[in-house]
Amino acid sequence: MTNNVNKYIGRFAPSPSGPLHAGSLVAAMASYLDAQAHHGQWLVRIEDIDETRTVADATTAIMDALAVFGMQHDGVVVVQSERKNLYQAAFERLRGLVYPCGCTRREIADSRLGVAADGAAIYPGTCRHGVAPGKTARTWRLRVPDVNEVNETIIFDDRWLGPLTQHLATEVGDFILKRADGFWAYQIAVVVDDAEQGVTHIVRGTDLLESTGRQIYLQRMLGLPTPSYMHVPVVLNELGEKLSKQTGAQALDLNNPLSELIRAAHFLELKIDHVQSITEFWQHAIAAWAQRYIAQ
Ligand code: GLU
Repeated sequence: MTNNVNKYIGRFAPSPSGPLHAGSLVAAMASYLDAQAHHGQWLVRIEDIDETRTVADATTAIMDALAVFGMQHDGVVVVQSERKNLYQAAFERLRGLVYPCGCTRREIADSRLGVAADGAAIYPGTCRHGVAPGKTARTWRLRVPDVNEVNETIIFDDRWLGPLTQHLATEVGDFILKRADGFWAYQIAVVVDDAEQGVTHIVRGTDLLESTGRQIYLQRMLGLPTPSYMHVPVVLNELGEKLSKQTGAQALDLNNPLSELIRAAHFLELKIDHVQSITEFWQHAIAAWAQRYIAQ
């Protein structure tokens, strides 16, 4: 699969941990508008790889809400929990770069390397050369290059934020691909799926920005193309927290889809007023998106 300039495949990849809320509607809308404005395809992928966070019926609720908002997806909806063989196959291709790790979270907590932007302690590489005697392997980690090695510095251009740099050795550390509970980590699943589905453009919230360096590194190690990235602002609550079920996000009012859509569009700095129907909303929003974020 190659990045073909004439082809645009975008996606919305919700984790089914609850119904769509104002924050996830903004992420869905941004990826949808960008795909429509490029005359591209828009896929929906259900990211239920962390089965401990999956909530029954959330997938149905998300799909129903997208339909109410008039957001039609292309192709079949793929579900990560049904694609574990793909993640296993990719993992096997990383042989020599992955290693078992016997460290517990508590043991890593006071890492001399400090904490990554997502709050996790940066792994100091303790098990790189083998699990210490008396310990058992819990997780599998991917070795990242040391300072000054090739690929240690990941540089990419974000369509919203501009040029960005991430240093894997000092800001991320060797990261988990297979978790202690046996589930695949989000990073490997998302990279494998985006490539397998031919995704060329990723539009998602800045809450995922910290993962991008890891994902680009994984793409390189697996010989996969790197899509274009655009990280849009995320909706926060009064406490400055990202909206989620845990932070008490309100469900969207599906009886008033037009006002929810207009609110989300305003958050994305699109000026949309006086639209009477959902169809009219999308016509205006696609044009406004193209003018603001695509036309130079
Ligand atoms: N499943 C992730 C989430 O809901 C999004 C993954 C992505 O867009 O790369 O936060």
